[in-house]
Amino acid sequence: MPAQLLDGKSLAERLRQTLAERAKQFNARTGRPAGLAVILVGNNPASEVYVRHKVAACEKATIASQLVRLEASCTTEALLSQIESLNNDSQVDGILVQLPLPEHIPEKRVIEAIAPNKDVDGFHPANAGALFTGQPCLKPCTPFGVMVMLEQIKAPLRGAHAVVVGASNIVGKPLAMMLLQAGATVTICNSKTLNLEEKTRRADILIAAVGRPSLITAEMVKPGAVVIDVGINRLDSGKLVGDVDFERVAQVAQAITPVPGGVGPMTIAMLLQNTLDAAEAASLS
Ligand code: NAP
Repeated sequence: MPAQLLDGKSLAERLRQTLAERAKQFNARTGRPAGLAVILVGNNPASEVYVRHKVAACEKATIASQLVRLEASCTTEALLSQIESLNNDSQVDGILVQLPLPEHIPEKRVIEAIAPNKDVDGFHPANAGALFTGQPCLKPCTPFGVMVMLEQIKAPLRGAHAVVVGASNIVGKPLAMMLLQAGATVTICNSKTLNLEEKTRRADILIAAVGRPSLITAEMVKPGAVVIDVGINRLDSGKLVGDVDFERVAQVAQAITPVPGGVGPMTIAMLLQNTLDAAEAASLS
């Protein structure tokens, strides 16, 4: 495989060790641990796994985590009142509501109820707007993790052409904004994009964040490009794959992330970083 493998698992592990050190220093300085509250509504099996990983990562980093569980049938008001009480809890620095929510609960109202300075997912419109205008903010963890990976390999972003395939509010759009601010020229593609291959072939940095296995084939990749696969797809066989045809694309790319073991572990590391950033900001205000 000629491409360099971007090992998100080891990078995330190293980051988590540094963050654990920072968490200890925070505790020593303030006399309390940084705190993250995770709210899980219902028991979606995938959400259960994600939440378990997040809570375990906090424990390892000596960040105090609390898991707040609500029944799938709970009312929007009950969830909002829970968020309100965490907003007012000075031991809680970060609040994360695990998505997706049951259909009867409007996601937008819930995200907007979280205090922006505790919004460690970076989904609140105040943080999204701040990111858009280049102000300091809590950044969405997955795109933030991608930027840290690119920084780690010193991928030249200034003047590079970055193509982001996928334009969701949680991955594609914020990532495009971060790449733009790092000096890249950015193309964002969505499901309506015509002739996707013509766009992706121009990418020095190619990001796939769609949720469709093998969407990105070797023919769609410029030789020497850096390819970051954010997609997570479970095949009928049970195998976990990304959006990129990994084996073939690795023959043409300069660097590539695997799935699993690429972007995924970075997302949790960035959640810890956001929680510590929020805690440090709160302790200084
Ligand atoms: P999403 O909300 O479903 O958005 C998918 C985006 O892809 C949309 O903008 C959609 O376009 C676009 N799209 C769909 N088909 C396309 C096509 N054929 N060509 C180009 N664009 C197309 O998904 P998401 O939440 O951003 O997640 C994307 C993937 O990343 C999923 O596999 C998810 O599991 C994974 N993910 C991974 C992590 C991680 O930690 N590694 C975190 C979050 C998400 P429209 O806007 O036109 O609908």
